[in-house]
Amino acid sequence: MAVGAELVSYGRELQAAGAAQTGSSFTGVSGADELLATSPEAFLLGVLFTQGIPAERAWAAPWLLLQRLGHLDLERLASESDAVAKAVQQPPMLHRFKNTMPRWVASAARRLLDDYEGDARRVWPDGAHVLEVTERLSAFDGIGRKKAVMAVEILTRHFGVPLKGRECGQVAFDVQVRRVFLRSGLVAHDDRAEIEAAAARICPEAPGTLDLAAWLIGRETCRPRSPLCERCRLGVVCPRRIDLDAAGVGVRRR
Ligand code: SF4
Repeated sequence: MAVGAELVSYGRELQAAGAAQTGSSFTGVSGADELLATSPEAFLLGVLFTQGIPAERAWAAPWLLLQRLGHLDLERLASESDAVAKAVQQPPMLHRFKNTMPRWVASAARRLLDDYEGDARRVWPDGAHVLEVTERLSAFDGIGRKKAVMAVEILTRHFGVPLKGRECGQVAFDVQVRRVFLRSGLVAHDDRAEIEAAAARICPEAPGTLDLAAWLIGRETCRPRSPLCERCRLGVVCPRRIDLDAAGVGVRRR
């Protein structure tokens, strides 16, 4: 219970601060952060990139794509596949999915044009339900449930989008989140349903509040090897089951 309470407390602090995905900012680059704040389409592209590369790099990708292409025009992103691929693949590459990512970008642009009148804000209109927005985001190529859940939390926490149904939000089944839930004893198994149930039990009014808190702890102190328990936000209350880790990363797996 103490672990859950401390995680909720941290999550609420981050919520009150309107924290971005990596804490105080997305990228540490003002131009890139500004683009995410002012262009819903750029934010959506950023969500596509948040996979398999450091978060700061992923969120900076729409800004770098804009610089390389000279535009983020949806019609052109959807139709000029060679140019998009070249921009993504130009050294330093914007993403290691050098062929998949350009396809996802083009597909997202096409979906925005066809289904949302070219306005990504229509994917998450004010008053929409968390589950509805999660479902819409998940329908984009390259955005599965994990990214969609994370994006919904950023939209509400950082951008203040008034979505209904925060009690239906969730933590992303992300490797950092999973490690923290396991090691802190919030769950016994590296299992999505178990982690989501734990989050809903700990913070029933808005389980997603725990998402960034757990993710930041996982990244900053609860590292796969040599966790920094003495510096950890959960250090005093955590049982420190450091022999455990998320499957596929593990120090030792269940
Ligand atoms: S770093 Fe240590 S104290 Fe913090 S969550 Fe991980 S195991 Fe627990």
